[in-house]
Amino acid sequence: EFQQANILQNLPKQFFADLVAKVNSQIAAGVDVINLGQGNPDQPTPQFIIDAMNKAIINPENHKYSSFRGASELKEAIANFYQREYGVKLDPEQEVCILGGSKIGLVELPLAILNPGDTLLLPNPGYPDYLSSIALANLKLELLPLLKSNNFLPDYTQLDEQVIQDAKLLYLNYPNNPTGAIATADFYQKTVTFAKENKIGVVQDFAYGAIGFAEQPPRSFLQTPGAKDVGLEFNTLSKSYNMAGWRIGFAVGNADMIEALNLIQDHLFVSVFPAIQQAATEALNSNQKTVKELVNLYKVRRDAFYRAARKIGWEPYIGGGSFYAWMPVPKGYTSQQFADTLLAKAGVAVAPGTGFGSGGEGFVRVGLLIDEPRYTEACERIARLNLF
Ligand code: PLP
Repeated sequence: EFQQANILQNLPKQFFADLVAKVNSQIAAGVDVINLGQGNPDQPTPQFIIDAMNKAIINPENHKYSSFRGASELKEAIANFYQREYGVKLDPEQEVCILGGSKIGLVELPLAILNPGDTLLLPNPGYPDYLSSIALANLKLELLPLLKSNNFLPDYTQLDEQVIQDAKLLYLNYPNNPTGAIATADFYQKTVTFAKENKIGVVQDFAYGAIGFAEQPPRSFLQTPGAKDVGLEFNTLSKSYNMAGWRIGFAVGNADMIEALNLIQDHLFVSVFPAIQQAATEALNSNQKTVKELVNLYKVRRDAFYRAARKIGWEPYIGGGSFYAWMPVPKGYTSQQFADTLLAKAGVAVAPGTGFGSGGEGFVRVGLLIDEPRYTEACERIARLNLF
């Protein structure tokens, strides 16, 4: 009976739905699929966080409407976390926004600070959900190419002059989904300079901020001098504490951007369930031992996968963070054809690089979200196809 609004027609197709459907049809056909295509953390939430939730949920105070903009205790815990982990000072009331997961904020921010027709620069390849704001806020999309030759960091000197003039806001995401690349201090400094010179706002998505494999942990964008003048950073408890289903994230940084984000939230939401905010407070205030254990687990899996892949002549791009491996496609295949072939002929699901934009051509994304022995088995099955 009812038509969908025009903006819904313009929303990008959810490509993961397509992948899940293909995987499910193989499973229904009796194939023992090794699913390396998805990005859903497989480990449970640490017990101390569940304990905090159990305690909070029986307090009737937590059953009421709570402060629109989230609990002060959580905002303070976020500020303390940034001070402790990154040496970044934040004003908990002016520079922190609590969100029901970071995705909502990543999509909403352009609605809160841009106007229809404004230009948004998005990484290519990049996390597909950033595209949603293009349709919802009626923006002009320009792509920020991420090339392997530059370690999947954008090179601002290569951008078209008109694009630079038009751009109002740009998105970054390090450690990167899908490539696993990490940003350097020097790159972030260049970003702040570029943003100031050209009056472009910066959004850095730090969803995988805790998941880095080098001795030095991944840098926060806010560690860069001047970063707070030009932008903000989104963060989430989804990955670092295996709380993806709980829906709790936040944004930190530029006070004007935070206020705009808070304002749009005021009109659309009442804050996250207070018991979840209390559990999140415990998580951020903890000694981060569970995070270190989790990173070690991903490192063991990553090393196992890299070893198995190299054994069959499949050389990975070495990123440095996130729980994905970014793997080249053999000659003669597009990334979609290669992903389809692996699923149909080897029962191994991977995400085609082009699911993250045209810049993902030539690669597939492998999620390190299943137990270790399966990586060897996946590579053995792939070896039988004689593609490398
Ligand atoms: N940003 C990136 C790059 C992601 O990969 C994801 C989740 O997969 C998110 C943001 C969303 O995280 P959240 O659970 O906080 O909405």
